[in-house]
Amino acid sequence: MVTTTAEARGQARGVVGLVPTMGFLHEGHLSLMERSAAECDLTMATLYVNPLQFDDPADLARYPADHDRDLALAEACGVDLMVVPGPEEMFPSPPLTGVTVAGIGERLEGEFRPGHMTGVATVVTRLLAALQPDRAYFGRKDAQQLAVVTRVVRDLGFPVEVVGCPLVREVDGLALSSRNVLLGRRRSKALALSRGLMGAADRFDQGERRATALEAAVRSAVPDDALEYARLCEASTMTGATMAEGETVLVAAARFGPVRIIDNVCLVADRRGASADRGVRLGHPSLIYGSE
Ligand code: AMP
Repeated sequence: MVTTTAEARGQARGVVGLVPTMGFLHEGHLSLMERSAAECDLTMATLYVNPLQFDDPADLARYPADHDRDLALAEACGVDLMVVPGPEEMFPSPPLTGVTVAGIGERLEGEFRPGHMTGVATVVTRLLAALQPDRAYFGRKDAQQLAVVTRVVRDLGFPVEVVGCPLVREVDGLALSSRNVLLGRRRSKALALSRGLMGAADRFDQGERRATALEAAVRSAVPDDALEYARLCEASTMTGATMAEGETVLVAAARFGPVRIIDNVCLVADRRGASADRGVRLGHPSLIYGSE
């Protein structure tokens, strides 16, 4: 089941779905895999901790991993091929080519994690070129990443459909992330970020549309020294919005000790009505806590 990118491409048949991941799988990843398995003839998932997207070597060094567990979980979700490319296969020498999405990739995460979005776009481009999927599945948890990848595919003309999938939350609302296991005793403090976003979504449901008020709802929940940003953006360009009109996303990032987390809620208001997409909640503790 474990293959290189070249072997995986050789086994492609019918409609091919791709789910890129950095491993230490949780229910957010599994939801993408299940969706691909349901919609495609063959599902490939990649497990590659992409060094290009880490701006902090310590963050890369402590990134959690459990390959055996990942392989069993992916197989149970209907993944046909688990692609685990070695560093020499992905980038035999440090790449001189980088994919930078002007504007969309330079704001927010691009500002706070220099080089991060270029690292993401470069590795996704590399995977799309090597594996040539028909559909590629990405989580809305990483709203800016989804916007960047959508634009890369459009600009470079990859014949692939980018599928955005719901953000999955833990029982208490914390957005699922492989890094959540690293939070330890700071986990209860980190809950402030999702609470703030849920508060903003409630304000939106009550009719609030002003970016200043929606962003303030997040700021009031998260201590100043933890919050990196809380910004209402137009969803496809990630440019700042002054009002939650059309398709917007309220994105936020915060740091609790050495662990940085990101989260968002999608706020849509148009002629057909208004809705706040808070994602979906698990009904049980995430499986990542079973392997601590
Ligand atoms: P990662 O392993 O963190 O690079 O994530 C791999 C894919 O899983 C990306 O498309 C993420 O957006 C997606 N993902 C990560 N966390 C979640 C989540 N809580 N809900 C939905 N998708 C997620």
